[in-house]
Amino acid sequence: KKIIIAIDGYSACGKSTTAKLVANKLGYIYIDTGAMYRAVTLYFLENYVSLTDPHAVVQALANIHITFIHNPHLQKNETYLNGLNVEEEIRKMYISDKVSEVSTISEVRKCMVEQQQKMGKKRGLVMDGRDIGTCVFPDAELKIFMTADMMIRAKRRQEELLEKDDMVPLDDIIKNLQMRDHIDTTRAQSPLRMADDAYLLDNTHITIDEQIDFVINLASS
Ligand code: C5P
Repeated sequence: KKIIIAIDGYSACGKSTTAKLVANKLGYIYIDTGAMYRAVTLYFLENYVSLTDPHAVVQALANIHITFIHNPHLQKNETYLNGLNVEEEIRKMYISDKVSEVSTISEVRKCMVEQQQKMGKKRGLVMDGRDIGTCVFPDAELKIFMTADMMIRAKRRQEELLEKDDMVPLDDIIKNLQMRDHIDTTRAQSPLRMADDAYLLDNTHITIDEQIDFVINLASS
């Protein structure tokens, strides 16, 4: 039976790496909800949308169309904002610096959660984010909550950015991760927290293969 796997946790803990590989192995669809909040942030910045004006926010959201399209060359899904490939742009630091603030806006969350729940109508789904097991799919058959040591998270993220020729000092990355963790865990609406029925996965000292096995074993039990 095909299920929904919800993967939540702190920033840069390897959620998307794990989710992607688990989805590949099971033949499931993978949805990166962080990419959706990042695409909204990009749109808001490009169009000077005032974050404190709910009317402007709602109007902007009505003009935002986010899709994921598979790139067969890179063997991965890429994020499209109103028909434009924004996959590279949304990973940049200036988006990471703003996205958590945008994600506190209740109109934004309502709009994203609705779209995510629609995607869940197709079973056989791995979705990662901050509120998947607690808010988007509280009935998900399997919930994972990921965490890892801050220094490891920051170094992994720095390497990812370097691969895209984006040199960011470690201190800046640590500050960004701490800032996002803080906003994500303290915001009023569906703050980041571990669901009561989630399994904790701390990947500080384990390999990617071990993480995948951990989730696959739970999914097939
Ligand atoms: O997963 P990623 O790090 O790309 O997410 C970027 C930001 O989007 C998070 O720091 C968080 O503020 C927000 N987010 C969220 N709810 C989700 C996914 C992401 O609030 N389900």
